[in-house]
Amino acid sequence: MSLFPEVKNQLSTLGGAELLENVPLANYTRFSIGGPAAMLLDATEEAALIRGTEIVRTANVPYLVIGGGTNLIVSDDGFHGVVVRYSGRRLLQDSTTLEIESGALLQSAVDESIARGLRGLETMTGIPGFLGGAVYGNAGAYGHSTQELVTSVRMFDGSKIRVLTNEDCRFGYRESVFKTRKDWIILSARLQFTTADSAQLARTAQEIRAIRDAKYPPAMKCAGSIFKNLLVRNLPAEVVAQVPPNVIREGKVPSAWFLDQVEVKGMRKGDIQIATYHANLLYNDGHGKSSDLVSLIQEVKARVCERFGFQVEEEVQYVGF
Ligand SMILES: Cc1cc2nc3c(=O)[nH]c(=O)nc-3n(C[C@H](O)[C@H](O)[C@H](O)COP(=O)(O)OP(=O)(O)OC[C@H]3O[C@@H](n4cnc5c(N)ncnc54)[C@H](O)[C@@H]3O)c2cc1C
Repeated sequence: MSLFPEVKNQLSTLGGAELLENVPLANYTRFSIGGPAAMLLDATEEAALIRGTEIVRTANVPYLVIGGGTNLIVSDDGFHGVVVRYSGRRLLQDSTTLEIESGALLQSAVDESIARGLRGLETMTGIPGFLGGAVYGNAGAYGHSTQELVTSVRMFDGSKIRVLTNEDCRFGYRESVFKTRKDWIILSARLQFTTADSAQLARTAQEIRAIRDAKYPPAMKCAGSIFKNLLVRNLPAEVVAQVPPNVIREGKVPSAWFLDQVEVKGMRKGDIQIATYHANLLYNDGHGKSSDLVSLIQEVKARVCERFGFQVEEEVQYVGF
């Protein structure tokens, strides 16, 4: 019997979305970890995404919007509510601006912008996941991040569609207003580019892609970096004094440096492995469980805290804990 029969009835009649019950979230996360969601609404149309969330909110059923699931650690017990997945992926060009639905693969946006001779996203080639997830976490790489391109974000605040400016989004390093307003749903974003030679942009992207694929083999079950890097300005002076100056890049100390000092590379719990070549990369090396993943993360955090007196902070988002 369904846990939320009335909600199930309403969601199952929505056009532009498919309703699944008791779905293993492991199938929807790059970690391939996570117990079942009571229901999963897979919406391909914006109207279905909005109506679906209205239904679950009105019924007071817990819900969560996900994209590509590449930055999630989902509990082995799953999620006792409705997971809404959005894959609307229309992309509209207006001169040097692209308006992109949040369910588009970030890589599609990268590829499209390069093909159209638009500079700005090429360094983000190879970051998996959807555009909505990239806006949510202000994803970035190679010295650039999503916030540099976003001029506005259309979002649903639970009662109406609103348009936020870049400033309204309160972007910071792997931060945005959406991390503090988890009830807000990103529908689409408008990105502003400059023009450039398409072939040159493609070469830049290919070089970055080769480096990334060596670090994160495409089949690796992981979430990229587990921990955020540390902004020097937020670290205690006595900690900064211990960091060799050549380790600091763009005002940040890679969290991997701290992890290296406490010798976590190669650690393993169950099927969860810390890469031997990169301390900030934990991956599922078989049939990993989130309990082992979380326990390994706690162990790493405790070691850093004991040695340096501060906590490294997760970049990944937890679901169902
Ligand atoms: C191999 C690998 C390499 C990576 N490299 C990088 C990197 O270089 N730089 C980087 O920044 N990240 C990196 N990541 C992390 C991840 O790819 C990014 O954070 C990505 O932007 C997440 O997008 P997603 O669609 O998968 O989001 P999900 O994992 O599905 O969700 C992440 C969070 O966003 C929220 N969210 C998603 N969509 C919406 C929406 N429409 N409205 C509101 N909230 C939403 C979810 O609720 C969740 O809290 C890497 C991950 C992997 C696996």
